[in-house]
Amino acid sequence: MNKRDPGYSKKLIIVGGGAVGLAVATSVRRHSNYDVLVFSSDSHASYSQCGIPFVIAGDIRDFNSLLLRDKEFFGEAGIDLRTGTTVQSIDLGKRTVIADGKEYGFDKLVIATGSIPSVPEELRQGASLENVFTVRTLSDGIRLERSLQTASSVAIIGGGPIGAELAAACSRRGLKTLLVNRSDSLLSHNIDPDMADIVREHLESMGTGILTGYTPEAIKGDGSVSSVTIEGKDFPADIVIISTGVDPETRLAADAGIQLGPTGGIMVNENLQAKLADGSFDPDIYCGGECVELQDRITGRPILSQLASTARRMAGVIRDNLISQEKSFGPVISPWVAVIGELEVGTVGITSKVASLNGIEIVSGLATGTTSAGYYPGSTQLYIKLLFSDRVLVGAQIIGGKGVKERIDALSLAISKRATVEELLDLETCYTPPVGTLVDPLTYAAKGALRKMTKVRK
Ligand SMILES: Cc1cc2nc3c(=O)[nH]c(=O)nc-3n(C[C@H](O)[C@H](O)[C@H](O)COP(=O)(O)OP(=O)(O)OC[C@H]3O[C@@H](n4cnc5c(N)ncnc54)[C@H](O)[C@@H]3O)c2cc1C
Repeated sequence: MNKRDPGYSKKLIIVGGGAVGLAVATSVRRHSNYDVLVFSSDSHASYSQCGIPFVIAGDIRDFNSLLLRDKEFFGEAGIDLRTGTTVQSIDLGKRTVIADGKEYGFDKLVIATGSIPSVPEELRQGASLENVFTVRTLSDGIRLERSLQTASSVAIIGGGPIGAELAAACSRRGLKTLLVNRSDSLLSHNIDPDMADIVREHLESMGTGILTGYTPEAIKGDGSVSSVTIEGKDFPADIVIISTGVDPETRLAADAGIQLGPTGGIMVNENLQAKLADGSFDPDIYCGGECVELQDRITGRPILSQLASTARRMAGVIRDNLISQEKSFGPVISPWVAVIGELEVGTVGITSKVASLNGIEIVSGLATGTTSAGYYPGSTQLYIKLLFSDRVLVGAQIIGGKGVKERIDALSLAISKRATVEELLDLETCYTPPVGTLVDPLTYAAKGALRKMTKVRK
């Protein structure tokens, strides 16, 4: 059918069937009559990556529970979903992609290729040994679970959120668990060292061995892994999990002539349209998710936001633009929460380290409180750290047994509205003994910061 024919449906191709790709596909189909074709290298479609550590921990019965929608759902929704199919190239001039050796034409293209695990150079050789894992896909999780069933020791390399969640999960299973981290503190990209100490103590109380400030030199074994070498010493391990971060998967985009930014992510404008080599933005090529470079709202610097929540919001903006409702995606503050053993750990905005790297002077306020009235059964500790720059809230870190996500979400709004320390002190909070204290510990953290500001002024 010719594009000018009245019955012609525009062709939308989506590369990547993860958080962004499938959200765009389902919602565009619901609101328009695009022909939607999705290619995904992954053999599974529509599942929660975020749930993988909790299956390993035994909180969720099995990996099938993480499957959100089956292939039939997409078929019935009129979406042609090709799993296990990698797009090899994109020709922006011809408006085509090549997959499975065939050429497919598009009117609009969405690139949502996510990230790939980044494995340090010195560990690459050992990474091919049996029982060495990176954890990105459902298949990775299934293979890891199978091996864990006969293992007695695990070494996890990388103390970021996923490494820490997996360490807690393995310790809870009764495995001898070692967590090794290059930085001196755990979660060093997410929270300040003093807050990270709380997480460390908790993991240690669960039996996790922790080595910070070390980079393993090698993963050793004969066919199957047997140890990890750190400072010349071999630490025995039946299983090694490499959790040293991810890199944006941008090969396709870069080969097609789309520009990458300093973070390695794809450059886009506020409508999430791809930036071409000549500096223009292609109105028909949208990019979203972890493969895209965003802007940090506080520092103004380019960053990568490796969060499902950011990805999902980007999918909404791409959908709106595709169905002709112009929407823009602004700079981010990346609210984030992880559950590490019995602790909820959350953060939003910048950390002290990011502030210092960007020459931002900050004043912090710290408070310890409880998640419910002290006399109430099940009350747990809550630790709050707030960071202010020029009296304006720019970062928040909270650790506690519960109630972290809700506070982080509220502070996310406060940061985006540039709330001041005085405004936070005026915040009206609610109370009932089972879920809070009469004065929320947030107030004490803000008071602590204000006290320091007043002292600085004198
Ligand atoms: C173990 C784990 C736990 C996590 N926990 C959390 C959490 O608690 N909270 C949170 O906010 N985020 C979490 N995340 C991150 C979150 O899952 C990602 O940010 C989100 O999935 C990113 O979405 P995306 O669409 O950009 O990429 P993905 O969902 O990874 O999708 C990318 C897709 O592109 C496909 N692809 C790549 N190249 C090609 C190609 N050439 N051709 C065809 N297909 C291709 C891939 O196969 C994949 O299906 C977690 C991630 C992991 C791995």
